[in-house]
Amino acid sequence: MHQLNETHSAELSSWVASANEAGTDFPIQNLPFGVFRRAGSDEAFRAGIAIGNQILDFAAIREAGIFEPQVATTVELLCDDTLNRYMALSVDAQSALRRTVSQALRDGSELESTLSNCLVEQEKAEFKLPANIGDYTDFYTSINHATNVGKLFRPDNPLLPNYQWVPIGYHGRASSIDVSEQNFHRPNGQLKSPDADAPVLAPCKRLDYELEVGIYIGAGNDLGQAIALDDAEQHAFGLCIFNDWSARDIQAWEYQPLGPFLSKSFASTVSPWIVTMEALAPYRKAWSRPEADPQPLDYLDSAKLRKSGALDMKLEVLIETQAMRDSNEPPSSVSVSNFDQSYWSISQMIAHHTVNGCNLQPGDLFGSGTQSGETADSVGALLEATEGGKHPITLSNGEQRTFLQDGDRVIMRGWCDGPGLPRIGFGEASGTILPALPLNK
Ligand code: CA
Repeated sequence: MHQLNETHSAELSSWVASANEAGTDFPIQNLPFGVFRRAGSDEAFRAGIAIGNQILDFAAIREAGIFEPQVATTVELLCDDTLNRYMALSVDAQSALRRTVSQALRDGSELESTLSNCLVEQEKAEFKLPANIGDYTDFYTSINHATNVGKLFRPDNPLLPNYQWVPIGYHGRASSIDVSEQNFHRPNGQLKSPDADAPVLAPCKRLDYELEVGIYIGAGNDLGQAIALDDAEQHAFGLCIFNDWSARDIQAWEYQPLGPFLSKSFASTVSPWIVTMEALAPYRKAWSRPEADPQPLDYLDSAKLRKSGALDMKLEVLIETQAMRDSNEPPSSVSVSNFDQSYWSISQMIAHHTVNGCNLQPGDLFGSGTQSGETADSVGALLEATEGGKHPITLSNGEQRTFLQDGDRVIMRGWCDGPGLPRIGFGEASGTILPALPLNK
């Protein structure tokens, strides 16, 4: 785990005025990474760091020769159109860049006049997927979600016996993951109602979102070499917001015996910004397991985990319908939950994923699984909020939803804060549902 250092101090302020405004996601204590260029331009994509409503542009920094010689090699990597080579650097090298950028953006920095020419307004930028995601694994770490969903399928036996022992996951599809403002067509697939003799090919009728935390892997491990629990976070680069769109009717018919397949692989959305594990250090919490539950096997348990393995990260889902856009109304907040409820930690996910020798690579992405609290207004999927489509939810403008309709835009947000701590945010992961394409028969 990263130590607290000067870059986390709540006292810091920036010469970028918008970074000091209350409620900004991107104060000087955050410094998250994304990959961008000016919207509509043919510039090369490169990395940037969000600061207030601006982006610190690493291509411009290289051009101006700023930060030489101390982190010049690192700046070079940040001119790539993905963060993969930067993610592979040591934690110390990444930490050195963070300290350099923090010092340069502070009030009173002598670099203000040169660096002010290296800023691009976020509103004038377009983003791409920040990493080449070689492999994507989706976990299932919220016991509330697992229990709620389990109840719908197996009322008398909601939680399967392995759940409290194994951080459950499956290998997902990386190619259909895209960055926020992803628009996609409602998927077509095989649907079978319980009383029908045979399935039909049709547009999904039970389209849902899943509110998840995305975890990008930094430095990888060699094939055959497991990562120990207490070393695991050295291999986590940072976190994003992740929407694992799900077609519940396709899923219900296809999921046995091998798990989700086409119900999940048509689209998944990440936020453009990755908040580093170092930036998240002040928001760590003790990790615990209820005394009545089985305690983790030794390879998934340690004093360090118990002291600081959890993360206080708030998560929110909002729905914006076509009717809201037509009448200029704001999106409706439908759920707020917290990653600190997760039954398994980031370090446990990494240690378990590699215990068999499986190799992780820089830029690989983990989904945390839907993060649900215990109450109806803190569940991370409509499947849970509507109890399988039985009880519609009512939005702020009076419209109701059991599942998503064409034209609905789902917005997910995340942030960390606390007494005496600055608020840092993750930006947004949003996506809009377009009508299904004609069926191929
Ligand atoms: Ca999921």
